[in-house]
Amino acid sequence: MASFELDRSFLNDAFRLMASCPLCHTKYQPQLAKIIAEKDDAYLLHVPCAKCHSAVVAMIFTNAFGMSSVGVLTDLTSDEVMSAQRRFVESDDVLALYQAMKDGSLSRHLV
Ligand SMILES: [Zn+2]
Repeated sequence: MASFELDRSFLNDAFRLMASCPLCHTKYQPQLAKIIAEKDDAYLLHVPCAKCHSAVVAMIFTNAFGMSSVGVLTDLTSDEVMSAQRRFVESDDVLALYQAMKDGSLSRHLV
């Protein structure tokens, strides 16, 4: 459904919200980000830091008021996140994953 072009402009918006690594404050490089899952107006991104090799898993969602994001720091690769995701939410249920991030259960699952 979303073309490559749409993904890129979406990512540019997303990277205005989370511009830099929370650990070393290096600016994120949007081209390193991977979209792990998408559903309706919500996207799950894995964003690695090029400098300190930490990563953030961020849920980006859009609504009538614009774009919001919530993220958790992880040292997992995007592949590992994808398999972790399959263990605890329905395969494509991004909104359930968003709930998990909000109530903290995601970070417990990812540890
Ligand atoms: Zn960093």
